[in-house]
Amino acid sequence: MNTNSLQMRCGCCFIIPLAVLRELSQGKLLKAASRTVFQDSFLETQRLRSIREGFRLAMVTTRRSFIAEAVTHAPVERLFDCKHRESLPGALVKSTEKDPFKTVEATTAKVGEFYKTVFGRNSIDNRGMDLISSLNYGVDYQNAFWNGQQMVYGNGDQQIFVDFWRSADVIGHELTHGVTQHESGLRYEGESGALNESISDCFGAVFNQWLNKLPASNEDGWLVGAGIMGPAAKAKGYTCLRDMVDPTSKHCLSPQPDSYDDFDPTGDVHENSGIPNKAFALFARTLGGNAWDAPIKVWYDACTGRHLSSSAAISDFANATLAAAGRWQGADKAKVKDALAKAWADVKVPIAVS
Ligand SMILES: [Zn+2]
Repeated sequence: MNTNSLQMRCGCCFIIPLAVLRELSQGKLLKAASRTVFQDSFLETQRLRSIREGFRLAMVTTRRSFIAEAVTHAPVERLFDCKHRESLPGALVKSTEKDPFKTVEATTAKVGEFYKTVFGRNSIDNRGMDLISSLNYGVDYQNAFWNGQQMVYGNGDQQIFVDFWRSADVIGHELTHGVTQHESGLRYEGESGALNESISDCFGAVFNQWLNKLPASNEDGWLVGAGIMGPAAKAKGYTCLRDMVDPTSKHCLSPQPDSYDDFDPTGDVHENSGIPNKAFALFARTLGGNAWDAPIKVWYDACTGRHLSSSAAISDFANATLAAAGRWQGADKAKVKDALAKAWADVKVPIAVS
């Protein structure tokens, strides 16, 4: 795919915020040589983000024309090796017996199984869309992203970040950007962008909990990107990128606000996402048990079925989740509604009085 066709089709959503890449490229945490790698990754991420919006709008238009099609088939996985170039998708990988391809193939298949068994969804578009992953993107590229059509993983610098495919929640996060693209089509800016990011964090974290059988009470299950933290980051006390239970914590490389009172209108989509992230974690932990039961199913109901507009604000989403809780048919319905209303109140997000 050449640059022009990528510009036509790109709808890139990332795991690492631009602000973190910029800080690491300029700050005192790293030596000059290491800062250069982050500067390159910052510029490449900025370039990809700047061309995303045209593709999202194209998808919103296109998906409507496909709604009438009842084409369904089992998704096929395909892996590509970028061989450290920034050209997508790269060379088709024929043998996946060794890492990184072995792990990405297995974990991506598990994400598909998660969506099928928990939600009855057939792949990213619910019509069996093939799952395409490109690895070894760029030289020490410090990010992973969904580009509107496929997942792309960098290798990191092995100091701050190790290979981005090593964290199951990161793989779940990127694929969920694809699901959001095919459902609400949330714009990747402002409050809708924060929701887009939060939805990927929520489904990525719950996929990881489901995969490793972690109950909602286990705090490790709420860390985003714990598996991609490199030795230099860990030596500085950073154990994760984001913590959904405690978004402001110092152990987060990318701390976030955890209350709508602290919403930053100029903030990156990865910053304000801490507010709905915490609401979801509070909701799930108040209910107890497993987050892949009522909590994530209520979130899925709110995110799908055209219940959410592409320009939704955080309070719109909160109201959509409350409406979804009203549709919940479980025996714990009253408890679900109470826990959800309390979670949104705790993070100071205004909700409609029903
Ligand atoms: Zn993301």
